[in-house]
Amino acid sequence: MNIYIFTANKTNVDIAGNIAAIKNQLPEKVRLVAVSKTKPVEDILAAYHAGQRIFGENKIQEMVKKQELLPKDIEWHFIGHPQTNKIKYIAPFVSLIHGVDSFKLLKVIDSEAKKNNRKIACLLQLHIATEETKFGFNTEEVFEALDSPEFLNLKNIVVCGVMGMATFTEDIDRVRNEFRNLKTIFDSLKMKYFQDKPEFCEISMGMSDDYRIAVEEGSTIVRIGSKIFGERIYQH
Ligand SMILES: *Cc1c(COP(=O)(O)O)cnc(C)c1O
Repeated sequence: MNIYIFTANKTNVDIAGNIAAIKNQLPEKVRLVAVSKTKPVEDILAAYHAGQRIFGENKIQEMVKKQELLPKDIEWHFIGHPQTNKIKYIAPFVSLIHGVDSFKLLKVIDSEAKKNNRKIACLLQLHIATEETKFGFNTEEVFEALDSPEFLNLKNIVVCGVMGMATFTEDIDRVRNEFRNLKTIFDSLKMKYFQDKPEFCEISMGMSDDYRIAVEEGSTIVRIGSKIFGERIYQH
């Protein structure tokens, strides 16, 4: 395991102050995921002591290690792209998997949840950005997945909504349009498949640089890393 998760925060970032400032701007019903990827457990504890309970990670091994070391009332959200053969490591404890972008992944999550005798909450990731590199279902694929009879056999997943990432750009109109598009897709999925499912209510969109726009466009969960913990330094 990489050593960085044990090294203390030396950058004098005011983690508690940053959380308070962000919370202050968020409507009460919008949840904050503190994205702690690459950050040491000390930083997570600083956020925890400031009252933060939801943390987001994008690497399986890193999340498992941190979960072992940290208080058990933390809600761990997986925001990355899990390899299907590694889902088993987070299945016992993960609270919400944001980046589900294939039917195959839904099936694996379902079967690992079943082995743990629990249900795992998932968000369907939609490809809303114009960039090639962003993951996610396109609109047609997501309808196809939900139309498939096999979907109804997945009893150990709970589909709670959608997730998306906007294009990395200064063009805020474009970002706003992409978020608006995700909200529209959410609304049509809700109408067609989840009208009687109150748990289908989440739109995970918005990061450090675009969460204000995301909230204006209907986000219910924002995923914020660098605005809380400072810039990430990648060591590999
Ligand atoms: C890293 C990451 C974030 C947080 O990014 P910041 O710009 O540091 O807030 C949010 N969502 C996902 C999927 C990420 O991978």
